[in-house]
Amino acid sequence: MLKRHEAALYATWLIILVAIPAPLVYFLNQNLVDTRQNILIYSFGVVAYVWWLTIVFLSTRPRWLDRLIGLPSMYFAHALLGVLALSFATLHKLQAFSIDETIKNLGNYAWYLSIFSIAYAIFFMSGWLVDRMRFLKRIKNQLHFIFKHQLSLWIHRLNFVIIGLIWLHVHLIGRISGITNFIIIFDIYTIFALSAYAWHQFISYDQKKYSGQVIGNFPLDATTQQLVIKLGQKAADYRAGDIFFLKFKKNPVISSEAHPFSVTSSPDESHKVVTFTIQRLGDFTKAINRVAIGSDVQLEGPFGMLDAVVADSAKKKQPVVLYGLGTGIAPLRSLAVKYANKAAIHVIWSTHRNSEIYYDEDFLSLKNNDAHFKYDVKKARFTQENLTSILDKTEISAARFIIVGSAAIVLNVESNLRKIGVAGNRLIDERLTM
Ligand SMILES: Cc1cc2nc3c(=O)[nH]c(=O)nc-3n(C[C@H](O)[C@H](O)[C@H](O)COP(=O)(O)OP(=O)(O)OC[C@H]3O[C@@H](n4cnc5c(N)ncnc54)[C@H](O)[C@@H]3O)c2cc1C
Repeated sequence: MLKRHEAALYATWLIILVAIPAPLVYFLNQNLVDTRQNILIYSFGVVAYVWWLTIVFLSTRPRWLDRLIGLPSMYFAHALLGVLALSFATLHKLQAFSIDETIKNLGNYAWYLSIFSIAYAIFFMSGWLVDRMRFLKRIKNQLHFIFKHQLSLWIHRLNFVIIGLIWLHVHLIGRISGITNFIIIFDIYTIFALSAYAWHQFISYDQKKYSGQVIGNFPLDATTQQLVIKLGQKAADYRAGDIFFLKFKKNPVISSEAHPFSVTSSPDESHKVVTFTIQRLGDFTKAINRVAIGSDVQLEGPFGMLDAVVADSAKKKQPVVLYGLGTGIAPLRSLAVKYANKAAIHVIWSTHRNSEIYYDEDFLSLKNNDAHFKYDVKKARFTQENLTSILDKTEISAARFIIVGSAAIVLNVESNLRKIGVAGNRLIDERLTM
Protein backbone atom coordinates (compact mmCIF):
# COMPACT_ATOMS: atom_id res chain seq x y z
CA MET A 1 0.00 0.00 0.00
CA LEU A 2 1.25 3.51 -0.82
CA LYS A 3 1.99 5.97 2.03
CA ARG A 4 -0.92 8.27 1.10
CA HIS A 5 -3.30 5.30 1.04
CA GLU A 6 -2.02 4.21 4.45
CA ALA A 7 -2.70 7.68 5.90
CA ALA A 8 -6.19 7.66 4.34
CA LEU A 9 -6.84 4.23 5.84
CA TYR A 10 -5.93 5.36 9.38
CA ALA A 11 -8.10 8.46 8.94
CA THR A 12 -11.03 6.32 7.70
CA TRP A 13 -10.79 4.01 10.73
CA LEU A 14 -10.63 6.99 13.09
CA ILE A 15 -13.73 8.52 11.51
CA ILE A 16 -15.66 5.23 11.63
CA LEU A 17 -14.64 4.22 15.14
CA VAL A 18 -14.78 7.61 16.84
CA ALA A 19 -16.15 10.53 14.84
CA ILE A 20 -19.37 8.95 13.54
CA PRO A 21 -20.63 7.51 16.87
CA ALA A 22 -19.37 10.54 18.88
CA PRO A 23 -22.42 12.87 18.54
CA LEU A 24 -24.84 10.14 19.66
CA VAL A 25 -22.67 9.10 22.60
CA TYR A 26 -22.25 12.77 23.54
CA PHE A 27 -25.97 13.57 23.57
CA LEU A 28 -26.75 10.38 25.47
CA ASN A 29 -24.18 11.25 28.13
CA GLN A 30 -25.37 14.85 28.36
CA ASN A 31 -29.07 14.15 28.63
CA LEU A 32 -29.73 10.75 30.15
CA VAL A 33 -30.15 10.79 33.90
CA ASP A 34 -28.63 7.52 35.06
CA THR A 35 -25.47 6.10 36.64
CA ARG A 36 -22.14 6.41 34.72
CA GLN A 37 -22.07 2.61 34.52
CA ASN A 38 -25.53 2.40 32.89
CA ILE A 39 -24.82 5.21 30.44
CA LEU A 40 -21.68 3.36 29.37
CA ILE A 41 -23.71 0.18 28.83
CA TYR A 42 -26.25 2.07 26.67
CA SER A 43 -23.40 3.72 24.76
CA PHE A 44 -22.05 0.27 23.81
CA GLY A 45 -25.39 -0.51 22.19
CA VAL A 46 -25.54 2.84 20.38
CA VAL A 47 -22.01 2.45 19.00
CA ALA A 48 -22.80 -1.10 17.81
CA TYR A 49 -25.88 0.22 15.94
CA VAL A 50 -23.91 3.03 14.28
CA TRP A 51 -21.34 0.48 13.11
CA TRP A 52 -24.13 -1.71 11.64
CA LEU A 53 -25.23 1.33 9.66
CA THR A 54 -21.64 2.00 8.57
CA ILE A 55 -21.43 -1.60 7.33
CA VAL A 56 -24.52 -0.97 5.19
CA PHE A 57 -22.97 2.20 3.81
CA LEU A 58 -19.67 0.44 3.02
CA SER A 59 -21.59 -2.25 1.12
CA THR A 60 -22.52 0.45 -1.41
CA ARG A 61 -18.82 0.56 -2.41
CA PRO A 62 -18.43 4.35 -2.62
CA ARG A 63 -15.93 4.95 -5.44
CA TRP A 64 -14.35 7.95 -3.75
CA LEU A 65 -13.50 5.71 -0.79
CA ASP A 66 -12.06 3.06 -3.10
CA ARG A 67 -9.68 5.63 -4.58
CA LEU A 68 -8.58 6.56 -1.03
CA ILE A 69 -8.19 3.17 0.63
CA GLY A 70 -8.93 0.52 -2.02
CA LEU A 71 -11.68 -2.07 -2.36
CA PRO A 72 -9.95 -4.83 -0.30
CA SER A 73 -9.54 -2.44 2.68
CA MET A 74 -13.19 -1.45 2.31
CA TYR A 75 -14.25 -5.11 2.45
CA PHE A 76 -11.95 -5.70 5.40
CA ALA A 77 -13.47 -2.73 7.25
CA HIS A 78 -16.96 -4.05 6.40
CA ALA A 79 -16.11 -7.46 7.90
CA LEU A 80 -14.15 -6.29 10.94
CA LEU A 81 -16.83 -3.76 11.84
CA GLY A 82 -19.34 -6.62 11.90
CA VAL A 83 -17.26 -8.40 14.53
CA LEU A 84 -16.67 -5.18 16.53
CA ALA A 85 -20.37 -4.31 16.40
CA LEU A 86 -21.28 -7.77 17.68
CA SER A 87 -18.73 -7.44 20.52
CA PHE A 88 -20.16 -4.09 21.61
CA ALA A 89 -23.73 -5.38 21.22
CA THR A 90 -22.77 -8.34 23.44
CA LEU A 91 -21.37 -6.02 26.16
CA HIS A 92 -24.64 -4.08 25.96
CA LYS A 93 -26.91 -7.13 25.97
CA LEU A 94 -25.16 -8.88 28.89
CA GLN A 95 -25.26 -5.85 31.17
CA ALA A 96 -28.31 -3.82 30.18
CA PHE A 97 -31.50 -4.18 32.14
CA SER A 98 -35.11 -3.52 31.12
CA ILE A 99 -38.40 -4.49 32.72
CA ASP A 100 -40.32 -3.97 29.47
CA GLU A 101 -40.63 -7.37 27.79
CA THR A 102 -41.06 -5.98 24.23
CA ILE A 103 -37.99 -3.77 24.49
CA LYS A 104 -35.99 -6.66 25.96
CA ASN A 105 -37.15 -9.15 23.31
CA LEU A 106 -36.45 -6.83 20.38
CA GLY A 107 -32.88 -6.37 21.64
CA ASN A 108 -32.46 -10.09 22.24
CA TYR A 109 -33.74 -11.07 18.77
CA ALA A 110 -31.39 -8.56 17.17
CA TRP A 111 -28.49 -10.00 19.17
CA TYR A 112 -29.26 -13.64 18.26
CA LEU A 113 -29.61 -12.71 14.59
CA SER A 114 -26.32 -10.79 14.73
CA ILE A 115 -24.49 -13.82 16.10
CA PHE A 116 -25.91 -15.99 13.32
CA SER A 117 -25.26 -13.38 10.63
CA ILE A 118 -21.62 -12.79 11.61
CA ALA A 119 -20.85 -16.51 12.04
CA TYR A 120 -22.44 -17.27 8.64
CA ALA A 121 -20.58 -14.45 6.89
CA ILE A 122 -17.22 -15.43 8.40
CA PHE A 123 -17.63 -19.02 7.27
CA PHE A 124 -19.43 -18.72 3.93
CA MET A 125 -18.61 -15.23 2.68
CA SER A 126 -15.13 -14.37 3.92
CA GLY A 127 -11.87 -16.23 3.57
CA TRP A 128 -10.80 -15.58 7.19
CA LEU A 129 -11.14 -19.23 8.18
CA VAL A 130 -11.56 -21.24 4.99
CA ASP A 131 -8.50 -19.77 3.27
CA ARG A 132 -6.34 -20.81 6.20
CA MET A 133 -7.81 -24.19 7.17
CA ARG A 134 -8.18 -26.77 4.46
CA PHE A 135 -10.71 -28.96 6.25
CA LEU A 136 -13.05 -25.96 6.65
CA LYS A 137 -12.62 -25.15 2.95
CA ARG A 138 -13.63 -28.76 2.15
CA ILE A 139 -16.72 -28.50 4.38
CA LYS A 140 -17.65 -25.17 2.77
CA ASN A 141 -17.25 -26.61 -0.73
CA GLN A 142 -19.43 -29.60 0.21
CA LEU A 143 -22.15 -27.33 1.57
CA HIS A 144 -21.86 -25.02 -1.41
CA PHE A 145 -24.53 -26.84 -3.43
CA ILE A 146 -27.11 -25.50 -0.92
CA PHE A 147 -25.49 -22.33 0.36
CA LYS A 148 -24.72 -20.78 -3.00
CA HIS A 149 -23.40 -17.26 -3.22
CA GLN A 150 -26.83 -15.98 -4.23
CA LEU A 151 -28.46 -17.53 -1.13
CA SER A 152 -25.61 -16.20 1.04
CA LEU A 153 -26.31 -12.68 -0.17
CA TRP A 154 -29.94 -13.01 0.84
CA ILE A 155 -29.00 -14.39 4.26
CA HIS A 156 -26.56 -11.48 4.63
CA ARG A 157 -29.47 -9.10 4.06
CA LEU A 158 -30.84 -10.24 7.45
CA ASN A 159 -28.74 -7.30 8.61
CA PHE A 160 -31.66 -5.07 7.64
CA VAL A 161 -33.92 -7.02 9.99
CA ILE A 162 -31.32 -6.50 12.73
CA ILE A 163 -31.27 -2.76 12.01
CA GLY A 164 -35.08 -2.64 12.05
CA LEU A 165 -35.25 -4.48 15.40
CA ILE A 166 -32.66 -2.21 17.03
CA TRP A 167 -34.27 0.92 15.62
CA LEU A 168 -37.59 -0.09 17.19
CA HIS A 169 -35.88 -1.18 20.43
CA VAL A 170 -34.35 2.30 20.85
CA HIS A 171 -37.52 4.18 19.83
CA LEU A 172 -39.55 2.27 22.43
CA ILE A 173 -37.27 3.35 25.28
CA GLY A 174 -39.05 6.57 26.17
CA ARG A 175 -36.29 8.22 28.18
CA ILE A 176 -33.89 7.76 25.24
CA SER A 177 -36.22 8.53 22.34
CA GLY A 178 -37.23 11.62 24.32
CA ILE A 179 -33.73 13.09 23.93
CA THR A 180 -34.46 15.19 20.84
CA ASN A 181 -30.88 15.82 19.64
CA PHE A 182 -30.04 12.17 20.08
CA ILE A 183 -33.05 10.75 18.30
CA ILE A 184 -32.81 13.20 15.37
CA ILE A 185 -29.18 12.18 14.69
CA PHE A 186 -30.08 8.52 15.27
CA ASP A 187 -32.82 8.72 12.62
CA ILE A 188 -30.73 10.79 10.19
CA TYR A 189 -27.95 8.17 10.34
CA THR A 190 -30.50 5.40 9.78
CA ILE A 191 -32.22 7.12 6.85
CA PHE A 192 -28.88 8.06 5.28
CA ALA A 193 -27.46 4.49 5.40
CA LEU A 194 -30.68 2.87 4.14
CA SER A 195 -31.17 5.44 1.37
CA ALA A 196 -27.56 5.03 0.21
CA TYR A 197 -28.16 1.28 0.02
CA ALA A 198 -31.48 1.62 -1.82
CA TRP A 199 -29.92 4.07 -4.29
CA HIS A 200 -26.98 1.74 -4.93
CA GLN A 201 -29.07 -1.40 -5.25
CA PHE A 202 -32.12 -0.20 -7.20
CA ILE A 203 -31.32 3.08 -8.96
CA SER A 204 -27.62 3.68 -9.54
CA TYR A 205 -27.16 0.84 -12.05
CA ASP A 206 -29.62 2.46 -14.43
CA GLN A 207 -27.39 5.50 -14.84
CA LYS A 208 -25.82 5.82 -18.30
CA LYS A 209 -22.30 5.80 -16.84
CA TYR A 210 -22.75 2.12 -15.94
CA SER A 211 -23.95 0.92 -19.33
CA GLY A 212 -22.14 -1.43 -21.65
CA GLN A 213 -22.76 -4.03 -24.33
CA VAL A 214 -21.23 -7.45 -24.88
CA ILE A 215 -19.34 -7.46 -28.18
CA GLY A 216 -17.31 -10.64 -27.76
CA ASN A 217 -17.64 -13.84 -25.73
CA PHE A 218 -15.46 -16.86 -26.43
CA PRO A 219 -13.65 -19.66 -24.58
CA LEU A 220 -9.92 -19.39 -23.85
CA ASP A 221 -9.86 -22.98 -22.57
CA ALA A 222 -12.28 -25.51 -21.06
CA THR A 223 -12.96 -23.42 -17.93
CA THR A 224 -12.01 -19.89 -18.90
CA GLN A 225 -14.03 -17.41 -20.91
CA GLN A 226 -13.08 -14.09 -22.44
CA LEU A 227 -15.78 -11.43 -22.36
CA VAL A 228 -15.38 -8.24 -24.36
CA ILE A 229 -17.56 -5.27 -23.49
CA LYS A 230 -18.00 -1.95 -25.22
CA LEU A 231 -18.43 0.73 -22.55
CA GLY A 232 -21.18 3.30 -22.90
CA GLN A 233 -20.21 6.83 -23.95
CA LYS A 234 -20.57 8.15 -20.40
CA ALA A 235 -18.64 5.37 -18.65
CA ALA A 236 -15.65 6.55 -16.61
CA ASP A 237 -12.26 5.73 -18.12
CA TYR A 238 -10.62 2.76 -16.45
CA ARG A 239 -7.03 2.34 -15.38
CA ALA A 240 -4.84 -0.71 -15.88
CA GLY A 241 -5.71 -3.58 -13.52
CA ASP A 242 -8.99 -1.98 -12.37
CA ILE A 243 -12.06 -3.91 -11.24
CA PHE A 244 -15.64 -3.64 -12.46
CA PHE A 245 -18.71 -5.29 -10.98
CA LEU A 246 -20.70 -6.80 -13.84
CA LYS A 247 -24.45 -7.07 -13.61
CA PHE A 248 -26.83 -8.50 -16.21
CA LYS A 249 -30.33 -7.23 -15.55
CA LYS A 250 -33.31 -9.21 -16.84
CA ASN A 251 -31.09 -11.58 -18.81
CA PRO A 252 -32.74 -15.03 -18.77
CA VAL A 253 -29.44 -16.96 -18.96
CA ILE A 254 -27.65 -15.45 -15.96
CA SER A 255 -28.45 -14.15 -12.46
CA SER A 256 -28.73 -10.43 -11.85
CA GLU A 257 -26.34 -10.15 -8.86
CA ALA A 258 -23.26 -7.99 -9.48
CA HIS A 259 -19.92 -9.90 -9.51
CA PRO A 260 -16.40 -8.40 -9.53
CA PHE A 261 -13.90 -8.99 -12.34
CA SER A 262 -10.55 -7.40 -13.17
CA VAL A 263 -9.83 -5.85 -16.53
CA THR A 264 -7.47 -7.81 -18.75
CA SER A 265 -7.18 -5.17 -21.44
CA SER A 266 -5.16 -2.03 -20.97
CA PRO A 267 -6.63 1.45 -21.50
CA ASP A 268 -3.69 1.94 -23.93
CA GLU A 269 -5.32 -0.69 -26.18
CA SER A 270 -8.74 0.95 -26.01
CA HIS A 271 -10.46 3.23 -23.51
CA LYS A 272 -13.97 2.23 -24.42
CA VAL A 273 -13.57 -1.51 -24.98
CA VAL A 274 -12.76 -3.62 -21.96
CA THR A 275 -11.86 -7.31 -21.85
CA PHE A 276 -12.39 -9.69 -18.92
CA THR A 277 -10.95 -13.16 -18.31
CA ILE A 278 -13.45 -15.21 -16.37
CA GLN A 279 -12.92 -18.57 -14.75
CA ARG A 280 -16.10 -20.62 -14.79
CA LEU A 281 -16.50 -21.76 -11.17
CA GLY A 282 -20.00 -21.23 -9.79
CA ASP A 283 -23.56 -20.29 -10.74
CA PHE A 284 -22.79 -16.91 -12.26
CA THR A 285 -19.48 -17.63 -13.97
CA LYS A 286 -20.63 -21.00 -15.37
CA ALA A 287 -23.46 -19.19 -17.17
CA ILE A 288 -21.23 -16.50 -18.65
CA ASN A 289 -20.60 -18.39 -21.90
CA ARG A 290 -24.34 -18.32 -22.62
CA VAL A 291 -24.54 -14.52 -22.57
CA ALA A 292 -25.31 -13.50 -26.15
CA ILE A 293 -23.39 -10.92 -28.16
CA GLY A 294 -25.33 -7.66 -28.02
CA SER A 295 -26.56 -8.27 -24.43
CA ASP A 296 -26.75 -5.22 -22.22
CA VAL A 297 -24.53 -5.24 -19.17
CA GLN A 298 -24.10 -2.78 -16.34
CA LEU A 299 -20.61 -2.11 -15.06
CA GLU A 300 -20.17 -0.60 -11.61
CA GLY A 301 -16.77 0.96 -11.15
CA PRO A 302 -14.01 1.10 -12.03
CA PHE A 303 -12.35 0.37 -8.68
CA GLY A 304 -8.76 -0.41 -7.86
CA MET A 305 -5.33 0.87 -6.97
CA LEU A 306 -2.91 -1.42 -8.76
CA ASP A 307 -2.24 1.15 -11.49
CA ALA A 308 -1.24 3.76 -8.88
CA VAL A 309 1.06 1.22 -7.21
CA VAL A 310 2.91 0.32 -10.43
CA ALA A 311 3.05 3.99 -11.49
CA ASP A 312 4.71 4.75 -8.14
CA SER A 313 7.31 1.98 -8.68
CA ALA A 314 7.94 3.14 -12.26
CA LYS A 315 8.60 6.65 -10.96
CA LYS A 316 11.05 5.35 -8.35
CA LYS A 317 12.69 2.99 -10.89
CA GLN A 318 11.76 0.09 -8.61
CA PRO A 319 11.35 -3.26 -10.41
CA VAL A 320 7.86 -4.78 -10.34
CA VAL A 321 7.08 -8.49 -10.24
CA LEU A 322 3.54 -9.30 -11.41
CA TYR A 323 2.73 -12.76 -10.06
CA GLY A 324 -0.49 -14.27 -11.44
CA LEU A 325 -2.19 -17.45 -10.25
CA GLY A 326 -4.56 -18.86 -12.87
CA THR A 327 -7.07 -16.21 -13.93
CA GLY A 328 -5.31 -13.90 -11.46
CA ILE A 329 -3.24 -13.04 -14.51
CA ALA A 330 -6.14 -10.86 -15.77
CA PRO A 331 -5.24 -7.51 -14.13
CA LEU A 332 -1.53 -8.29 -14.46
CA ARG A 333 -1.75 -8.58 -18.24
CA SER A 334 -3.44 -5.18 -18.23
CA LEU A 335 -0.63 -3.69 -16.10
CA ALA A 336 2.10 -5.43 -18.12
CA VAL A 337 0.77 -3.98 -21.39
CA LYS A 338 0.59 -0.49 -19.90
CA TYR A 339 3.96 -0.49 -18.12
CA ALA A 340 6.20 -2.51 -20.49
CA ASN A 341 8.98 -0.16 -21.61
CA LYS A 342 8.11 2.21 -18.73
CA ALA A 343 9.19 0.05 -15.77
CA ALA A 344 11.26 -3.12 -15.19
CA ILE A 345 8.42 -5.65 -15.31
CA HIS A 346 8.72 -9.37 -14.54
CA VAL A 347 5.58 -11.45 -15.15
CA ILE A 348 5.36 -14.79 -13.35
CA TRP A 349 2.33 -16.88 -14.24
CA SER A 350 1.43 -20.12 -12.55
CA THR A 351 -1.51 -21.95 -14.17
CA HIS A 352 -3.45 -25.12 -13.54
CA ARG A 353 -1.94 -28.11 -15.31
CA ASN A 354 -5.03 -28.48 -17.54
CA SER A 355 -5.22 -24.80 -18.49
CA GLU A 356 -4.13 -23.27 -21.74
CA ILE A 357 -1.47 -20.57 -21.50
CA TYR A 358 -3.84 -18.28 -23.33
CA TYR A 359 -1.89 -15.02 -22.96
CA ASP A 360 1.50 -16.56 -23.81
CA GLU A 361 1.80 -14.78 -27.15
CA ASP A 362 0.97 -11.40 -25.61
CA PHE A 363 3.68 -11.75 -22.97
CA LEU A 364 6.24 -13.10 -25.47
CA SER A 365 5.54 -10.15 -27.73
CA LEU A 366 6.04 -7.70 -24.81
CA LYS A 367 9.32 -9.47 -24.04
CA ASN A 368 10.50 -9.18 -27.65
CA ASN A 369 9.83 -5.46 -27.64
CA ASP A 370 11.31 -4.60 -24.24
CA ALA A 371 14.81 -5.76 -23.23
CA HIS A 372 13.96 -5.34 -19.52
CA PHE A 373 10.70 -7.33 -19.63
CA LYS A 374 10.95 -10.79 -18.04
CA TYR A 375 8.39 -13.56 -18.33
CA ASP A 376 8.15 -16.99 -16.65
CA VAL A 377 5.21 -19.35 -16.93
CA LYS A 378 4.60 -22.81 -15.48
CA LYS A 379 1.67 -25.24 -15.52
CA ALA A 380 2.12 -25.82 -11.77
CA ARG A 381 3.11 -23.87 -8.66
CA PHE A 382 6.58 -22.32 -8.52
CA THR A 383 8.52 -23.87 -5.64
CA GLN A 384 10.90 -21.84 -3.46
CA GLU A 385 13.80 -23.28 -5.49
CA ASN A 386 12.10 -22.21 -8.76
CA LEU A 387 11.57 -18.72 -7.39
CA THR A 388 15.18 -18.36 -6.27
CA SER A 389 16.34 -19.25 -9.76
CA ILE A 390 13.93 -17.02 -11.75
CA LEU A 391 14.12 -13.94 -9.49
CA ASP A 392 17.36 -11.99 -9.53
CA LYS A 393 19.01 -10.51 -6.42
CA THR A 394 17.70 -6.98 -7.06
CA GLU A 395 14.13 -8.26 -7.37
CA ILE A 396 14.39 -10.21 -4.11
CA SER A 397 15.89 -7.26 -2.24
CA ALA A 398 14.04 -4.33 -3.79
CA ALA A 399 11.17 -5.19 -6.18
CA ARG A 400 7.50 -4.62 -5.41
CA PHE A 401 5.48 -7.81 -5.86
CA ILE A 402 1.82 -7.81 -6.90
CA ILE A 403 0.24 -11.22 -6.43
CA VAL A 404 -3.26 -11.97 -7.73
CA GLY A 405 -5.20 -15.21 -7.40
CA SER A 406 -7.48 -17.17 -5.12
CA ALA A 407 -6.83 -16.27 -1.49
CA ALA A 408 -5.47 -19.58 -0.19
CA ILE A 409 -2.81 -19.82 -2.93
CA VAL A 410 -1.92 -16.12 -2.64
CA LEU A 411 -1.17 -16.68 1.08
CA ASN A 412 0.99 -19.67 0.18
CA VAL A 413 2.95 -17.73 -2.46
CA GLU A 414 3.50 -14.84 -0.05
CA SER A 415 4.84 -17.22 2.57
CA ASN A 416 7.30 -18.69 -0.01
CA LEU A 417 8.41 -15.22 -1.09
CA ARG A 418 9.06 -14.20 2.52
CA LYS A 419 11.09 -17.35 3.05
CA ILE A 420 13.41 -16.49 0.16
CA GLY A 421 13.98 -12.98 1.55
CA VAL A 422 11.26 -10.73 0.10
CA ALA A 423 10.18 -8.20 2.74
CA GLY A 424 6.47 -8.34 3.65
CA ASN A 425 5.98 -4.59 3.07
CA ARG A 426 6.79 -5.08 -0.64
CA LEU A 427 4.06 -7.69 -1.11
CA ILE A 428 0.74 -6.39 -2.41
CA ASP A 429 -2.02 -8.79 -3.24
CA GLU A 430 -5.46 -8.90 -4.73
CA ARG A 431 -7.43 -11.93 -3.59
CA LEU A 432 -10.19 -13.07 -5.90
CA THR A 433 -12.54 -13.73 -3.02
CA MET A 434 -14.27 -11.12 -0.92
C1 LIG B 1 -11.49 -7.93 -6.58
C2 LIG B 1 -11.86 -9.17 -7.34
C3 LIG B 1 -11.47 -9.33 -8.65
C4 LIG B 1 -11.80 -10.51 -9.33
N1 LIG B 1 -11.39 -10.68 -10.63
C5 LIG B 1 -11.66 -11.84 -11.27
C6 LIG B 1 -11.24 -12.06 -12.63
O1 LIG B 1 -10.63 -11.20 -13.26
N2 LIG B 1 -11.54 -13.25 -13.19
C7 LIG B 1 -12.22 -14.23 -12.52
O2 LIG B 1 -12.46 -15.29 -13.08
N3 LIG B 1 -12.65 -14.05 -11.25
C8 LIG B 1 -12.39 -12.88 -10.62
N4 LIG B 1 -12.84 -12.70 -9.34
C9 LIG B 1 -13.60 -13.78 -8.71
C10 LIG B 1 -15.05 -13.74 -9.19
O3 LIG B 1 -15.67 -12.56 -8.75
C11 LIG B 1 -15.77 -14.96 -8.60
O4 LIG B 1 -15.18 -16.12 -9.10
C12 LIG B 1 -17.21 -14.95 -8.99
O5 LIG B 1 -17.87 -13.85 -8.44
C13 LIG B 1 -17.81 -16.25 -8.49
O6 LIG B 1 -19.20 -16.20 -8.72
P1 LIG B 1 -20.02 -17.55 -8.99
O7 LIG B 1 -21.44 -17.30 -8.67
O8 LIG B 1 -19.71 -18.05 -10.34
O9 LIG B 1 -19.35 -18.57 -7.99
P2 LIG B 1 -19.70 -18.82 -6.47
O10 LIG B 1 -20.96 -19.58 -6.38
O11 LIG B 1 -19.56 -17.57 -5.69
O12 LIG B 1 -18.48 -19.75 -6.11
C14 LIG B 1 -18.36 -21.03 -6.72
C15 LIG B 1 -17.25 -21.81 -6.08
O13 LIG B 1 -16.03 -21.25 -6.47
C16 LIG B 1 -15.30 -20.86 -5.32
N5 LIG B 1 -14.66 -19.62 -5.71
C17 LIG B 1 -15.26 -18.44 -5.90
N6 LIG B 1 -14.35 -17.55 -6.32
C18 LIG B 1 -13.17 -18.23 -6.40
C19 LIG B 1 -11.89 -17.91 -6.81
N7 LIG B 1 -11.62 -16.70 -7.26
N8 LIG B 1 -10.91 -18.85 -6.79
C20 LIG B 1 -11.17 -20.09 -6.36
N9 LIG B 1 -12.38 -20.47 -5.97
C21 LIG B 1 -13.37 -19.57 -5.99
C22 LIG B 1 -16.29 -20.66 -4.22
O14 LIG B 1 -15.71 -20.80 -2.92
C23 LIG B 1 -17.26 -21.76 -4.54
O15 LIG B 1 -16.80 -22.99 -4.06
C24 LIG B 1 -12.53 -11.53 -8.67
C25 LIG B 1 -12.92 -11.35 -7.35
C26 LIG B 1 -12.61 -10.18 -6.68
C27 LIG B 1 -13.04 -10.02 -5.25
